[in-house]
This record gives sequence, C-alpha cells and structure tokens, in this order.
Amino acid sequence: MKVVLEHLTKQFPSLDKKNKTGVIAVNDFNFEIPDGKLIGLLGPSGCGKSTTLNLICGLQKPTSGRIWFGETDVTDLPVENRGVGLVFQNYALYPHLTVQQNIMFPLENLKGKDKLSKEVMKEKALEAARLVQIDHLMDRKPSEMSGGQQQRVAIARALVKRPRVLLLDEPLSNLDARLRLQTREEIRRIQKETGITTVFVTHDQDEAMSISDMIVVMEAGFVRQIGKPQDVYDDPVSLFVAKFLGTPPINVFNGEVRHEKLYIGSECVLETPGVPDQEVSVGIRPEGFVLDEKGAFTTSLQAVEVMGRDVSIVSTHPQSANVTIRSIISSDHKIDTASGKVRFSLKPHKVFIFHKETGDRIPFTCHTEPGLA
Ligand code: ADP
Ligand code: MG
Repeated sequence: MKVVLEHLTKQFPSLDKKNKTGVIAVNDFNFEIPDGKLIGLLGPSGCGKSTTLNLICGLQKPTSGRIWFGETDVTDLPVENRGVGLVFQNYALYPHLTVQQNIMFPLENLKGKDKLSKEVMKEKALEAARLVQIDHLMDRKPSEMSGGQQQRVAIARALVKRPRVLLLDEPLSNLDARLRLQTREEIRRIQKETGITTVFVTHDQDEAMSISDMIVVMEAGFVRQIGKPQDVYDDPVSLFVAKFLGTPPINVFNGEVRHEKLYIGSECVLETPGVPDQEVSVGIRPEGFVLDEKGAFTTSLQAVEVMGRDVSIVSTHPQSANVTIRSIISSDHKIDTASGKVRFSLKPHKVFIFHKETGDRIPFTCHTEPGLA
C-alpha cells in the first residue's frame, strides 16, 4: 500500500502567550511512500518525526494537508480504521497478560462480521510470534522477558492484524547496542518477508542508513532531503544533511574559493570550476583523504588509531570547525609520525562546499584525478 503525504502540516498552539505562532512541528511535508518499502524518517530530537508518524496513524489531526493510503483519503479516519500497526520505544505491553494474550489483544476488539473465534486468534498470534521468533515464550509475562524480547512481542502485536502500514517510532532506543543491531536486522527481514509499507523513525543515522530503502532527513519540521541512503550520503543538499549522516562524521573547515580554486588556509586543495569567489564551509568525508607526500593539504598529527582493516588518523588544522579531524586510511599505508605533520591529497567527490551563511551545497564538477577515488 503506497502512502501519500500531501502538504502535511501540523502546528501546535503556543503555550507562551507572547509567541502566537506556536510550533510548526511538521511543515508542508510532501512525499509518496512507495508500496512495500521501508522508509527511515531521520533527524535530531524535536524535528517532527513522531508528529509525522502520529499524523500518518491518526493519533493526531493535521492542521492542513491530506494523507492517502493507496487511493483512499484517510485524513479523517480514526486510528482503528486505518489498518496501521504501531510500535513505540517503550513496548507498552499489558503486564498482567501473557505474551499470547498481549499479541492477541488487537484481535479481541474485532466486532461483528470481523469477530474471530479463540482458535483462529491463537493461530494468528502464534503466526505473528513465529515471525519475530518468540513463539516459544507464549506463556510468559512481560516481566519475565528481556527488553529485546518484549519489543518483539510489541512488534508481533503490531503485525497480528496484518496492517497495511507499519509505523515504528524509535523502536530500538531502549535496547543495548548489540541487541539494537540484531533487532534492526530482524525488523528489516520481517518487513521484507511481509512486504508491509513501513515507516521507521529514528534519530540514529546509522540505524536509518542500514535498513531503509529510502531515508527522509528532517530538520525543524522541514523535510531537507529524501533519497536512497547512499545517494543522500554521496550527494547531500546542505551542510546539515552532510553532518547528520556518516560515522565518523564529516570534517568541516572554513575555506575560500578564489579564481575557481578552493583554499583551506593558505593551501589550495582542489579546483572548483565555475564557483564564484566567496568564503565557504568545506566538508570532507573521513574516507576522502589520501596520504600523499606531495599532497596539498597539511595537518598536524595527533594520533594514529589502528582499527583492524582501517587506520584512523587524528589530526588538527587551524581552519577546522571541529577540535580534531578524522581521516580513514587503509591499514596498508605506512604513516610517518616523526615529522608531526601529515600531508593529504583529497578525493574530489568526497569534498563538498557549502554556502557560508545558508549551508546550502554549492555544486561543482569534480575532476577525479587518475589513481584516486
Ligand atoms: P521528534 O519526534 O522528532 O523528536 P516531535 O514530533 O515529538 O519531534 O516534536 C516536534 C516539535 O513539536 C517539538 O518542538 C515539540 O516540542 C513539539 N510538540 C510535539 N508534540 C506537541 C504537543 N502535543 N504540543 C505542543 N508541542 C508539541
Ligand atoms: Mg519522537
């Protein structure tokens, strides 16, 4: 089922009498979520992710705009008639009910011609439990289970009615790191197996990047960029998006374009054909550095961290916006630590320049030097 968001806007009234505008939590959101895909809704805390999800499921009413499930306008439908499955950060299970009873709960409420027999309900609950691999725990109470298992119960409960749309709001935030990794892969598997159109909300870029077909990056109520994770990473529209994606994060410098050349400090690091003279912010991905004795970019070496396959070089530069610069180099390279300086050339397609004030990306055609990239 495709889901269409059309000029979706949600404004909350101001609690502060002086500020009449209130908060525009979601501002003119337009997007057609393709059928059967998993969309990662990504952005910092307070950017409007949960509000967007609540609008899609019907827990909140939009101030303006429409929501379509397939060809049906669901904007005015109550939650229970939208056919959505919901999973939240706190699993919200009924503590006095068993796993089986918790999963069956949404089925118990079916009325009239939809009413199911106990036998059918049990069967459906077991089927959903199998999908999340907790079918051996059906008689347990939530208090007798780990966080990861409880969240699986919550997912099974969301799936038991075979929802048309599955909505997950930071479902892994309460789990420890290892379980988070495992459960996110699990969610991806289930989503692929069932083919249910899914919106997955997270503030964790790594999580969103790893399991989404497409990501939507939000900032302060606005959608900033939508695309395949790799495309957004490779081609960010703004400094905000570039900084939000990637671990280690992108390195940011104060730079200047003069005569179609990019300078960081006094060093000319790249050609930027067609770009007018101006001060810019420069973003260089950690993998964009190439150790090169004749390289144009010199930094002061702080530390070399060997991490198996890769080496992380930590260095500093007076024009760096961050305390340290991180470059990731293959561990085949030998690093001369004696001089205290390290010289790099840059992979042009890993270097982005941004408008100094607005942070908007300034495009330039990158000429990849032979042997690099
Ligand atoms: P996120 O899930 O991305 O952290 P939210 O969607 O929860 O963000 O919130 C977006 C903005 O809307 C925030 O500024 C938040 O304070 C505000 N907000 C959310 N819910 C309400 C509400 N019920 N009343 C007033 N303001 C709200
Ligand atoms: Mg939220």
